[in-house]
Amino acid sequence: MEEQASPERNQAALIARETHASESETPTTRDRWTNLLIAFPILLLFSYLGIALSRQSQGVATIWFTNGMLFSIVITRPRNTWWRYFIIGFLADTLADRFWGDPFRLSAGVAFANFIEVISSTLILTRWFGHPLNLSRRRPLLGFLLVAVIGATAITSALGASWTLLFVNAGPWLSLFRAWYLGDILGMAIMAPLLFILLRPGFFDMLRLPNLPKTLLYLFVPAIATFLVFTHNQDPLIFFIFPALLLVVFRLGFPGAALTIFIVACISIRLTATGHGPLMLIGSSMLHRIVVAQIFLAVAIFTAFPVAALLEDRKALQHSLEASEAKYRTLANADSLTGLANRRAFDARLDAEWRHALALRQPLAVLLIDVDHFKSYNDTHGHLSGDRCLRHIAEAISTNLYRATDTAARFGGEEFTVILPGTDIEEALTIAETLRQAVAAMRLPHSGNTCGSIQTISIGVASTIPAADEPPLSLLKSCDEALYFAKQQGRNQVKAASAIPHTTDLEDAEPTAPQLP
Ligand code: GH3
Ligand code: MG
Ligand code: MG
Repeated sequence: MEEQASPERNQAALIARETHASESETPTTRDRWTNLLIAFPILLLFSYLGIALSRQSQGVATIWFTNGMLFSIVITRPRNTWWRYFIIGFLADTLADRFWGDPFRLSAGVAFANFIEVISSTLILTRWFGHPLNLSRRRPLLGFLLVAVIGATAITSALGASWTLLFVNAGPWLSLFRAWYLGDILGMAIMAPLLFILLRPGFFDMLRLPNLPKTLLYLFVPAIATFLVFTHNQDPLIFFIFPALLLVVFRLGFPGAALTIFIVACISIRLTATGHGPLMLIGSSMLHRIVVAQIFLAVAIFTAFPVAALLEDRKALQHSLEASEAKYRTLANADSLTGLANRRAFDARLDAEWRHALALRQPLAVLLIDVDHFKSYNDTHGHLSGDRCLRHIAEAISTNLYRATDTAARFGGEEFTVILPGTDIEEALTIAETLRQAVAAMRLPHSGNTCGSIQTISIGVASTIPAADEPPLSLLKSCDEALYFAKQQGRNQVKAASAIPHTTDLEDAEPTAPQLP
């Protein structure tokens, strides 16, 4: 079946381009082995820590880190490397259990149950939402919460609890399943987004100057709130943590939310497991307290992450709107044939430069450029060649203007203009002459041109220090007259408005020999 181009797939493709883990940027074999060699001891350490934590809290599994970690690594790696990560995950898990003295068959069975959780979540979610999976977007995140956090963990916990009871007497199946399930839910819900964010380019920006003080300040608020709430045994003040959590979500977005959940989880579980905090008010069993702590964290996750993902979606939408607005603004001001500024942009720019020059009492120059005998060029070479010729001329004009403030525009048809702020008539004449020579130097063949069988241009030049009672159009009018004079004098030349003789003289004026490059 053909794959549909859903927004998630498009986003996934975008991420693929952003992340170093895209399949197109194939990592070298050495990189792959290095990644595996780094991942293996980390997974081993966290499997070991997960078991250590459960032993510390009187045998209750509080959080199982490695499934979420492995899942978040795999979803951003090329598909053909997945099997290696699954194998090292399985080995790390088995080995950690063996360190704690569990028999091999129990360790391997438990590792297999964990393997099912990671592999099923990876396969289902990348199939539905594309690969690499972007956990910070709303729909993939909701899919992740349902499939990986709630669904796959249930299967793993059922398998793990059943397998364990074959070897050890760990109480009733349901309570073992429940403890296992909550530990897996927390591990998947906390570690996968956290590691996903850590591996995403740009995460460390918030931990770099000048962002670091702000980041620390925001993270400090939920950290201190959790610490105060979980060292206070008399009242159940857990709800105080939520405003602090939402503050971070709004200020630091998804990365901040993932970090905060991790911090809150560490503090609350540690203090509860060592007999502190409001959960001491409920019952006397550690299992009961840890379960409530886990539910509290799960609620915090299901509150913070969707809000963070929604904000991230909004931010992405805002970026794409800004980008398309910038693109359309550029298009609205550009001439589609030559890429120069169009008439609209020229008018606006001339107006702005006129006012600027008026305020600063500076000269402002304008060149009006007309392609010589262009009608006959079209007639001889065809309109498409005519278009190409206009593009070449536009390029010659723009590449010979060096100041950022100079603006070249297509005035219309085969006419171009250049606005030269702060330029007097001498300087403007020099620039115009450079442009005329640059066009002639291209030697575009034009047999119909009386000026030497190549394509040439004529330029009318005017410069003035604007006066308050004059419109910018007066400068353009002078240019037009100068251009008319240049044409009348034989084309392929530059004329200043100031050089035009009086009307009667103009009629008598002898054409001057066209200047050749
Ligand atoms: P002159 O030296 O007096 O300027 O003569 P000219 O032939 O260049 O002037 P005229 O105004 O008679 O003709 C301008 C020609 O420019 C006519 C028109 O077909 C052509 N033209 C205008 N815009 C375009 C364009 O976008 N592409 C092409 N190929 N030709 C264009
Ligand atoms: Mg013309
Ligand atoms: Mg012309």
